[in-house]
Amino acid sequence: MTDYKRFKCSCGEENPRKLHEEPDKTQVLYYSMQGTPVYKKKIKCGTCGNVFDKSS
Ligand SMILES: [Zn+2]
Repeated sequence: MTDYKRFKCSCGEENPRKLHEEPDKTQVLYYSMQGTPVYKKKIKCGTCGNVFDKSS
């Protein structure tokens, strides 16, 4: 077993190859010491196009 977390879209897609992490540029978590924003990550489903929160 690995500790790789699996995500599942509301459409039922749970193939990690179809679920891509992408930054949600509307939600800045914090700014790095260089001043660049670190965004919250969202999961985008490649099957239906739905974007959802990792924690859901
Ligand atoms: Zn989906």
